Amino acid sequence: MSGSAARMEAIDAVTNYKPTSLPLNFSEVSTGDLFGANVFGLAAMKSRLPKPVYKSVLGTIESGSVLDPNIADVVAAAMKDWAIEKGATHYAHVFYPLTGSTAEKHDSFLSPDGNGGALAEFAGKTLIQGEPDASSFPNGGIRATFEARGYTAWDVTSPAYILENPNGTTLCIPTAFVSWTGEALDKKTPLLRSMQALNKQAQRVLRAFGHDKIGTVVSYAGAEQEYFLVDRHFFFSRPDLIAAGRTLFGAPPPKGQEFDDHYFGAIPERVLAFMLECERELFKLGIPVKTRHNEVAPGQYEVAPVFEQANLATDHQQLMMMTLRRVAERYGMTCLLHEKPFAGVNGSGKHVNFSLGNSTQGNLLDPGETPHENAQFLVFCAAVIRAVHKYSGLLRAVVASASNDHRLGANEAPPAILSIFLGDQLADVFAQIAQNGGAKSSKSKGTLAVGVDTLPELPKDAGDRNRTSPFAFTGNRFEFRAVGSNQSIAGPMVAINTIVAESLDYIADRLESADGKDAESFNATVQKVLHDIISAHGDVVFNGDGYSDEWHQEAESRGLPNLRTTVDALPVLASDDVVELFEKYGVLSKRETLSREEVYLEQYCMTIGVEARTTVEMAKTIVYPAAVRYQGELAATCASLKAVGQECDTETLDTVTTLVARLKKGIASLEAAMASMNGGGMLGHAKHSCEEILPAMLVVRAAADELEGIVADDLWPLATYQEMLFIK
Ligand code: ADP
Ligand code: MG
Repeated sequence: MSGSAARMEAIDAVTNYKPTSLPLNFSEVSTGDLFGANVFGLAAMKSRLPKPVYKSVLGTIESGSVLDPNIADVVAAAMKDWAIEKGATHYAHVFYPLTGSTAEKHDSFLSPDGNGGALAEFAGKTLIQGEPDASSFPNGGIRATFEARGYTAWDVTSPAYILENPNGTTLCIPTAFVSWTGEALDKKTPLLRSMQALNKQAQRVLRAFGHDKIGTVVSYAGAEQEYFLVDRHFFFSRPDLIAAGRTLFGAPPPKGQEFDDHYFGAIPERVLAFMLECERELFKLGIPVKTRHNEVAPGQYEVAPVFEQANLATDHQQLMMMTLRRVAERYGMTCLLHEKPFAGVNGSGKHVNFSLGNSTQGNLLDPGETPHENAQFLVFCAAVIRAVHKYSGLLRAVVASASNDHRLGANEAPPAILSIFLGDQLADVFAQIAQNGGAKSSKSKGTLAVGVDTLPELPKDAGDRNRTSPFAFTGNRFEFRAVGSNQSIAGPMVAINTIVAESLDYIADRLESADGKDAESFNATVQKVLHDIISAHGDVVFNGDGYSDEWHQEAESRGLPNLRTTVDALPVLASDDVVELFEKYGVLSKRETLSREEVYLEQYCMTIGVEARTTVEMAKTIVYPAAVRYQGELAATCASLKAVGQECDTETLDTVTTLVARLKKGIASLEAAMASMNGGGMLGHAKHSCEEILPAMLVVRAAADELEGIVADDLWPLATYQEMLFIK
């Protein structure tokens, strides 16, 4: 190999890499001892709290109600003792601002005691409420800067945990983050509210089905996380990876994804060691991770936790991303969570599996054993179908980001058109409900009447999967596949919970006003409701190839929105439908909803702004110099050949000269596009970024990538795709 000196150095460092953390020996500690060791969960509380206090906290966790402030001091003291035993010196209120990141406000347990010593203090009020300096977090106009204060409030339903750090161990307390006027400045508050809304409406439907013991209904989420690993040396040699998390330049590798052997292939030893350590760290935090295998692209992997109730799963998802990043560093690698770090190579998503249920009726999206259970299952399923159809624009909006735009609709992830995959048998059941509105035959059975017969067996396993569908029924849950790898799953969960609550509300209204209360007329009402829903909303069901052009045309004729970019999608948040929806179910006030559109548009603009500036800088200071150096060499060779009367083949020189000119012109156009931002508020700015700046960046990139294929390898300064993806 003969890359530039800088590249060779990086490659050298990578190949001579010695891990500082050695692969872990799992036999040293049993997984059972490890699991949840750093969590102040139910087990720790039970053993440390007086019985009545424990019961009160448990009640709060299970019902989501407000914590009794009188017991806060007792809980705080127990929590502090537990944490100090674990070596904690600090505590932090952890919150989830609209940037999608995780923020922490750290404080020391120790306060001066006035006699030159220090006291470990942690009162109940400190546990329940904190006051971070909130002014640096985006709020979309909710908070004027002169009243920049906000406060964090302990979320009892997500247990406190310990984060170990080489320089100190911290007790972390998951919190909601609100302004002093009570408006949600974060992603957790609306999530908790949406779970309450879902519970309320699901209870009504279950009551209509005649249940008298009904536990709190929660939504469950299981988020499969994809990510890339690249060696740190390559990472630090690429200003684009550092600044933007993705490569803004780089020609596709000669060896690419077509080598299918990567998928489920052998995992390199260093990566395996990293995975084992991640797993161990996550176990300690009580996060039940399960699978690991190579993903489609080279250098890409996946980790999936076992599903948990949505609020906990969301906090755990944030911790998971943080853990992946931190542990990767220990192994001399960088974990890239960007949705599309390498152009032309499959990007990373985060499939969010959703179901809802409770302790008494179980998973409500699981087809049951009895006709009664099946009727109930069909009703909950129909609620999801109606919800996705009615609010498909909202679902698109909550996964919209500058980075996810590169992935959605790029024939590697679902298209931006939201449709539902039901699988043949379930689709058949619903199709017949739509046609006949009465008793029906099913593919594998004779006749089927809702509430009387059992359903045909529905496939539960991965065999019958349609991977092109953005919202797929997979046996006992729906899988939302459009979420980006880098995104918080809070937004998607808020949307799903709320739109399903709205559909359950509609269904409950109809079931409650059923004519007769006997089983027969109740079944007839259920049948009618299902028929009406599937007639009005069945167009969202599509079992074919979501990547095909035919589907795009078909979807258009069905009137399904196709919101291609973030700029198309985010304004949906401000639409009357969505504003009213969130208001009606107490999830977000109008101001809160509008603030989110504003913040996300701003983030979109900021992301593209950073990318554009990095593109210009790299093109000018890295790509251009390499190209003209090579141009100079070629020109010098020609000159010396001519000097001795030989002919010079100028083809390569001419190509380089043309590309250099194209590069310069491209840079100038990009700079002009960046300078010509012309009002229109945040949406105008975003449109300009999408329509003018992004395409101009691509022109610069195209010239640079062509140069990469022609400039002498020992002059090419940037780590190549081949190196970043394959050398580990
Ligand atoms: P695949 O990659 O084939 O989609 P995986 O087994 O990798 O499947 O991931 C399945 C995900 O679905 C896991 O995160 C799992 O916890 C989650 N899951 C399984 N059952 C449910 C359920 N009832 N509700 C929500 N999530 C679920
Ligand atoms: Mg999946």
